[in-house]
This record gives sequence, structure tokens and C-alpha cells, in this order.
Amino acid sequence: MSQSLSLSVPSSLADSSQAIAPQRIIRAEHSLSHLESLIQPYGQRPLVVGGEQSLAILRPYLSSIATLEVADATYGRDCSEASLQTLGQNVTDHHADVILGVGGGKALDAAKLLAHHHHCPVITIPTSAATCAAWTALSNLYSDAGAFQYDVGLPRCPDLLILDYAVIQTAPQRTLVAGIGDALAKWYEASVSSGHSQETLTIAAVQQARVLRDILFQKSTAAIAQPGSDEWRQVVDATVLMAGVVGGLGGAQCRTVAAHAVHNGLTHLSPTRSSLHGEKVAYGILVQLRLEELLQHHHLATTARHQLLQFYGEIGLPTTLTDLGMEDVSLRQLQTAAQVTCQPDSDLHHLPFTVTPDQLMAAMVSTASSSPALMDSEAILGSASEEVSP
Ligand SMILES: [Zn+2]
Repeated sequence: MSQSLSLSVPSSLADSSQAIAPQRIIRAEHSLSHLESLIQPYGQRPLVVGGEQSLAILRPYLSSIATLEVADATYGRDCSEASLQTLGQNVTDHHADVILGVGGGKALDAAKLLAHHHHCPVITIPTSAATCAAWTALSNLYSDAGAFQYDVGLPRCPDLLILDYAVIQTAPQRTLVAGIGDALAKWYEASVSSGHSQETLTIAAVQQARVLRDILFQKSTAAIAQPGSDEWRQVVDATVLMAGVVGGLGGAQCRTVAAHAVHNGLTHLSPTRSSLHGEKVAYGILVQLRLEELLQHHHLATTARHQLLQFYGEIGLPTTLTDLGMEDVSLRQLQTAAQVTCQPDSDLHHLPFTVTPDQLMAAMVSTASSSPALMDSEAILGSASEEVSP
């Protein structure tokens, strides 16, 4: 039987409500060996939600469980309304009383939303360090084709987060690199959306985002060179946990800006699946800085972008559309992505200045440019249309 754990907050206090952190975090190598006893306090009929690969990772741990009635279900290709409907049927059929999300961002987002809809506790088990989805009270919804639709703020963070370093270490290196890109965005976005805030917790979030950026700058190269090392663990903690802390402390005040808006726009192009969330976001940070250069003549943005270009080169994050596998994108497709990114409800408009789709396109095709920041964006756009196929 499901138990209702949703917090009822009077609607007049909805904006004052904040979900900061999971109720409990277990982080240890081989922590999944204790999965049965870790699940028991939350329910007796777990439904495990993940992709095929993540479910395969978890099955050896699930098969030794004797006291719980376990079922599993795949979320399909995306955390979409259609897949959530199918998963909802799985919850009902199994009479699930606790949801386990296992995998990367999309599986965890689906599990969190499913648990919210069915008033069940949720346990998140990240299998890579690609995002902080295991921590946050937020789920992103996509179309079945992978195009970003909207995000849903949840009233609470997961009940339990199990971080097993031995499992994370088996994930492709590229997922950690993507996680570094996603976590870096916390600083570049929070400092723009909330840098002038006088709210105590928002100040705390922005400062944590700066510390997070510095940890990533200092330790990422060593972490990537030596998986399993102390630095590697520290960077995994930064991308999976500390990025979540920033989101939790900052709450609705500390919003995403252009980096994620550009990511969302790019998901509407067909080659979107060739790159990971954090890779598109990392590219989006460069676009955001380029907009500040082109439209605000912001010299610090130029310095920051060049610093990131060097860092991205060292750890293997994409700096251009070509790096994202979008070298064949047409001008028309680029326009589509720019128009989606500039839609009225886009996070792009958390920038302190107005951006048109043409200006955005100029920034998108000149992320790796060494040209002076004062160069006219129309001139760049002119040369851009020669670079991308007609
Ligand atoms: Zn993200």
C-alpha cells in the first residue's frame, strides 16, 4: 500500500517552501551490497525504474533480495509524459510502495516524478556522475523524440540517495566529463541570476557555486586521469552532490539562465542524442559568455570564456557545435534552436539584457572565437551563414 508522504504546504506559502537536500545520503564503495536493508525502512514492494543498462547493473544486487517483492520497469528513451503514463501503470500493477530510480538524469527524473504522482518514497541510485538529478527536487520532461518540454519542481528531494563509487567508476569517462560541464554551469548561471541578491540562503548558494567551480578547475584533470583516486571521488562528490546543494540552497531564486536555455533549444534538433546533457550545457555556458561579450561588451566574460576554452580542451568538453556532433546542422535548424531558446518562457530571459534569435545565433557559432569582443554580431552572423550548410 502506498503511503502519502507529500508535504502539504498552504498555497500562500508555496513560494516560501524549499526542498534543500535528500533526507539521507549513503556514499561508500559497494554500498549497494546492502541494498535490501537500505530499502526496507521505505517499503516492501519496490519498483525499480531505469534504462536497460542501468537495470543490468542493479540486477545482481536485486537478485539476492529475499524479503522484498521487487519489480523493475524501463523508462523507454526519455522521461516523457507517455513513458510516465506507462510507468504509472507498472506502479499500479505491482502495488509498489517505494520507487527506486537507477541510472543517469532521465531515469532519476522519471522515478522522482513517478513517486510524487503516486505518493511513494523515492530512492535514487546514480550510475554515473553525469548530473545532480539524484539530489534535486526537480524533474525535466522531454518529448519522446528527446526535445525538452518543461521542468517540474517537486515538493521534496529524494528520501534516500545511494552513491556507490564502485558503480560510478564503471560508467564511461565521458559521463563524468559531462557532469563537470553541468556542475560548472551552477556558477555561471547563479552569478548572473542571483549575484546581486541580498537573501542569505541565495548568497550562500552563489558562493557555494563559486567554490564548486574552483574545485572542478583544480581537481578535474587529476580525477579524469585516475578514476578511483581521491581526486576522482572529490570530483564525483562535486558533480553529484555539491551541484545539488547549490540547487537546493538557491531554490527558485537561483535560477538557470542561458546555458541551460541553449541546451533546451538544442534538444529540438534531430542530432541531439549524439551529445550528453552536460556537454550541451557546457557549450551553453560559452554561448552565454559570448552573448555578454557581444551585447554588453563585457571584458570579464571574454576572460572567463578563454579560461573555459582552455579547461574544456584539457578535459574534453565540447566548445563548438561541431564538437557536439552537430557539424551538419543547417542554418534553418540553427534558427529553430535559437527561436526555441528565445521563447517567452525561456530561462534565457533571466539574463539582464534582451537577446534576439539572430544575436543568439551569432553567439552560438562563435563560441570558440578569439576575435575581439567588440566585433559586430551581424558581421559574425554573416560569416556564420557561410560556415553552416544552407
Ligand atoms: Zn543541468
